[in-house]
Amino acid sequence: MLSKEAFADAETVARAIKALPVRLLRARPIEEAISTASGVPFETMNDRLMIERLPGVFCAGEMLDWEAPTGGYLLTGCFATARLPLRACTSAPS
Ligand SMILES: Cc1cc2nc3c(=O)[nH]c(=O)nc-3n(C[C@H](O)[C@H](O)[C@H](O)COP(=O)(O)OP(=O)(O)OC[C@H]3O[C@@H](n4cnc5c(N)ncnc54)[C@H](O)[C@@H]3O)c2cc1C
Repeated sequence: MLSKEAFADAETVARAIKALPVRLLRARPIEEAISTASGVPFETMNDRLMIERLPGVFCAGEMLDWEAPTGGYLLTGCFATARLPLRACTSAPS
């Protein structure tokens, strides 16, 4: 526990955070382990993931409102969804 004065010193706070003991007891169920949720809804974008109301603004990866047990494959999903806007911007067929 840091004193109020110690909280004013960024280095002391950083050191305390790095030394914070985290005791893992067990894994939580997968439904609770999904780290983030929400994002830009699919129904507001076209099939190249461009926001209909903001022509030229595309979404991919964590910007999207997808919720799934991606367990270890989020990067794959991010790269895959980035392909659509990339193709649209380079005018290449998808
Ligand atoms: C600790 C940790 C471990 C993970 N391990 C795995 C794993 O093992 N396997 C896996 O598949 N996935 C893993 N993930 C998830 C994966 O890293 C993310 O899903 C993925 O990196 C998201 O990619 P993204 O391009 O959508 O977003 P990000 O990688 O977050 O990229 C967004 C970028 O936008 C920049 N940015 C933000 N705001 C602005 C702004 N206003 N202007 C300009 N730039 C801005 C940010 O700086 C950042 O560089 C992990 C995530 C974390 C946090």
